[in-house]
Amino acid sequence: MHFSDLDLPEPLSRAVQDMGFETPTPIQEQALPPLLDGRDVAGQAQTGTGKTACFLLTAMTRLLDSERPDNGNPRALIVAPTRELAIQIAEDADQIGMHTELAVTLCYGGTGWDKQARDLEKGCDIVVGTPGRLMDYYRRGILRTSNIEIFIVDEADRMFDMGFIRDIQFLFSRIPPREKRQALLFSATLSQNVLTLAYRHMTDPVEVLI
Ligand code: AMP
Repeated sequence: MHFSDLDLPEPLSRAVQDMGFETPTPIQEQALPPLLDGRDVAGQAQTGTGKTACFLLTAMTRLLDSERPDNGNPRALIVAPTRELAIQIAEDADQIGMHTELAVTLCYGGTGWDKQARDLEKGCDIVVGTPGRLMDYYRRGILRTSNIEIFIVDEADRMFDMGFIRDIQFLFSRIPPREKRQALLFSATLSQNVLTLAYRHMTDPVEVLI
């Protein structure tokens, strides 16, 4: 398979070329066709498999095809268990989105509360963050989730290990209902816990195992 078989929007296929990606990785090859069709996917993939590009290409394809709301609320929410991972995802998003106008805001704990809050209030398309800080902004009305069209949970198994699962359940319950949004979940293992989470909040998720 080639990236050209996926019919990505032109700014994304150009970025993929600029980044030197020649062919999709196995997870991209398996997950991108159902994802680009709008399906929910639970993917078993570790770091290094190309899972980040997989969910960013999905989110950006979707956002390029929908209207940015006047209220500036984000349309994609990506949750990662650690600050390092959130930063890495935002850097990848800057790369993959280099030929788009999509704005990414990064929210993680420990530092930068005021700046991140200002960034959210300015409006953006994609929010990448860690659970604690996202919950804090949500409770204060700074993160508004009513326009979320795509919700992505990365490293779901670590969300359980690190005690974030209630936050993830909470965020799932505060985004638009399942018929109005797409949900993606990636995890190094699709354990019973992770699959239960997937089946509780996702619509007939396609399981992708690498
Ligand atoms: P990840 O598993 O998301 O951490 O990605 C691992 C690395 O693979 C990152 O540096 C990506 O830029 C790179 N990558 C992702 N997809 C591809 C691809 N199709 N071809 C070559 N490199 C890729």
